[in-house]
Amino acid sequence: MAEDCLFCKIIAGDIPSNKVYSDDDVYAFHDINPAAPSHILVIPVRHLSAVNAAANEDEALLGKLVLAANKIAEQEGLAAEGFRYVINTGDKGGQTVHHLHLHILGGRQMNWPPG
Ligand code: AMP
Ligand code: ZN
Repeated sequence: MAEDCLFCKIIAGDIPSNKVYSDDDVYAFHDINPAAPSHILVIPVRHLSAVNAAANEDEALLGKLVLAANKIAEQEGLAAEGFRYVINTGDKGGQTVHHLHLHILGGRQMNWPPG
């Protein structure tokens, strides 16, 4: 757990969240400010500041994150029609919370290019 990390506090239960999935390595919850009808954040339980802070030892963890997200997308009924994964990275990437999170966005048509 990292000091002053919002998502570490959510995992610890110090800040409430609307949980959709958890296992030993991954936690997922509804985004508080949804940008689509379905907007879920999938995060590693162990604090990792950003996707590009991953080391070789995090290889399996990144795989688990995506496989858990696939399961959640299926459960949320998004898989048939399609959905979007987003990992904002760094300031210009739009990352505001510095604990790696994979956004699952679905339930509406996504546009390209993103903003
Ligand atoms: P990013 O801009 O990629 O760092 O995404 C951070 C996301 O966290 C945003 O979509 C926020 O709406 C979301 N968020 C911030 N605080 C909370 C919270 N307490 N519970 C759930 N989602 C949150
Ligand atoms: Zn954290």
